[in-house]
Amino acid sequence: MTIQVKHYIDGEFVIGEGSKKISVTNPANNETIAVVNAATDAEVLKAIDSAKAAFTTWKEIPVSERARVMLRYQHLLKEHHDEIAEILAQETGKTFDDAKGDVWRGIEVAEHACNIASMLMGETVENVARSIDTYSYTQPLGVCAGITPFNFPAMIPLWMFPLAIACGNTFILKPSEQDPMTPQRLVELFEEAGAPKGVLQLVHGDKTAVDILLEHKDIKAISFVGSVGVGQYIYKTGTDNLKRVQAFAGAKNHCVIMPDANKQQVINNLVGASVGAAGQRCMAISVAIFVGEAAKWIPEVNAAIAKVRPGLWNDKDAAYGPVISPAAKQRVLSLIAQGKAEGATCLTDGSECTVEGYETGNWVGPTVFSDVTTDMAIYNEEIFGPVLCCMTADSLDDAIEVVNNSPYGNGTSIFTASGGAARKYQHFVEVGQVGINVPIPVPLPFFSFTGWKGSFYGDQHAYGKQAVRFYTETKTITSRWFESDIATGPNMTIELK
Ligand code: NAD
Repeated sequence: MTIQVKHYIDGEFVIGEGSKKISVTNPANNETIAVVNAATDAEVLKAIDSAKAAFTTWKEIPVSERARVMLRYQHLLKEHHDEIAEILAQETGKTFDDAKGDVWRGIEVAEHACNIASMLMGETVENVARSIDTYSYTQPLGVCAGITPFNFPAMIPLWMFPLAIACGNTFILKPSEQDPMTPQRLVELFEEAGAPKGVLQLVHGDKTAVDILLEHKDIKAISFVGSVGVGQYIYKTGTDNLKRVQAFAGAKNHCVIMPDANKQQVINNLVGASVGAAGQRCMAISVAIFVGEAAKWIPEVNAAIAKVRPGLWNDKDAAYGPVISPAAKQRVLSLIAQGKAEGATCLTDGSECTVEGYETGNWVGPTVFSDVTTDMAIYNEEIFGPVLCCMTADSLDDAIEVVNNSPYGNGTSIFTASGGAARKYQHFVEVGQVGINVPIPVPLPFFSFTGWKGSFYGDQHAYGKQAVRFYTETKTITSRWFESDIATGPNMTIELK
């Protein structure tokens, strides 16, 4: 039976009146598992009005009570961890363990939101002038909105709404239309955690719904995660409409392998970081640069990657699942073909991959290219598939130059036994998240997710202290209390001391 996905508007789960029906499919066979009616303009507007009304009361709820909602929420998410992961695995095709990881990295942000009171603390200085004290408060903005991608349907919504709401805002989530069932479950549990009506709203749809959020005067801030073109559009349109915007976009992440690195660790780490989750991670390693003698390891890296195979979400031996859609598969295959045509050596070709009994699924086998150069499409485009591009460099300096010339700057890593090489890399590389012998350096929520360059538009990043700054305004108060009411006469100048 096809599931009908629901919106959550003004405290009610509703199917919605929208005539545009979007199918949610199982990427392993492309059969429809659910349908969502894209929200009508009136439904999006109703969600905004309801969130605006809820803000007037939610912002007055004591911070410890807001934190208690988050405490109950993180507990419920943990209690339902497997169940959410199963929904997520079915609509994304991720393996069950990987789906659990997606949920877990979101739970960690909800846990972090429990500590909101200390993160909201302002600053104080006594006696800034005679008998005058200055102190600051952080206050919520109002209605915030989040627009999220398909590839982490639990983690990325959870990067956003728990912290925004713990800060005292209300929030409208517009998740990816390709996997909306997971976000629906997250929202159901948020209601169960005791969040008052209207504090969180869920509207499904595509560009039409997003455009209303981008233009509406009552939306104060937009958090976006998704592809480069859409990220640029969101940033430009949101800021044109005078909103605060943080837009996390696409990536091309390099791993630099020094010849003094531990070879087996390099091989083990590269396999998971490149083709894990079918390469559909914004922090996936898609380019490996082998420095000097390390180039000799390429055949062994290739052999290790060639051994893994995709499979169904509940197949314990599957290394990863299908890509999200036939269009995504077509895109990956055409980039693989372009790589071959442009002269890269295809050491392992996953173009013809299939899984028995699921031949109609969006399978792409692990693919490895060597002899990749920076003018090729497979180097320049974000493939977002299980494809690793291998390059070589004569020195660490040369490798750094390649990475720094990339327009993206989400994540990078270096494998080495040398503290000096690691220090040089972390200092000079122009990328916002650096791993040293760690392939995918995604920071935990007490830090922030700090992509750079074309991978991020805005200034305050996701989660951690930066998210609290993003979702709040600072109010600075300068105060003088007189001991007596004796008037001293008008003061006509700026006080100097
Ligand atoms: P996408 O850009 O197609 O969609 C993201 C969201 O934007 C969805 O909710 C979608 O409905 C909406 N959208 C799509 N087209 C739109 C348009 N023209 N106008 C307004 N809204 C629109 O991205 P995706 O394919 O779902 O996700 C994969 C991309 O996300 C990859 O590029 C990946 O690198 C990126 N990503 C980045 C990060 C990061 O932290 N930098 C994290 C995860 C994913």
